[in-house]
Amino acid sequence: MNATAELAIGQVAEASGVSVSVVRYYDEFGLITPVRRVGGKRRFGPDAVSRVTFVRRAQAVGFSLADIKTLLDDQRGRWPELVDQHLLDLRQRRDDLNMMISTLEQLRRCACEEVARCEHMVSADEPIAHPSKQALGSLTRQDRP
Ligand SMILES: [Zn+2]
Repeated sequence: MNATAELAIGQVAEASGVSVSVVRYYDEFGLITPVRRVGGKRRFGPDAVSRVTFVRRAQAVGFSLADIKTLLDDQRGRWPELVDQHLLDLRQRRDDLNMMISTLEQLRRCACEEVARCEHMVSADEPIAHPSKQALGSLTRQDRP
């Protein structure tokens, strides 16, 4: 590859709309790899921009970085399986969230003075939502500052 086609880390960051530290992190995670180093500084091939963009899109739909690495380097046609599994997880989380929301809506509609005595919360006959770990995990992540 000729040197003019190579990109400095700042150029990859700017072209893909992320910060330099994100590009560095993706490199350390093995999601992108510099073609060489010049004076200790990383030089990337032009495909680094599309890879970074892919990683951002895949993160935006909730894939883990480990799964994204598999998706990026997939040469055995495994990606449909990973996408299907992730769809199943997301649908389970959606169902869990809907259950949690409808329980809270029901509680909110109630006119009890003390929530701790509300029939919707204390009656043994009412179904109790058991959200999956994934649903709780996504809530916890959003709660972080
Ligand atoms: Zn009530």
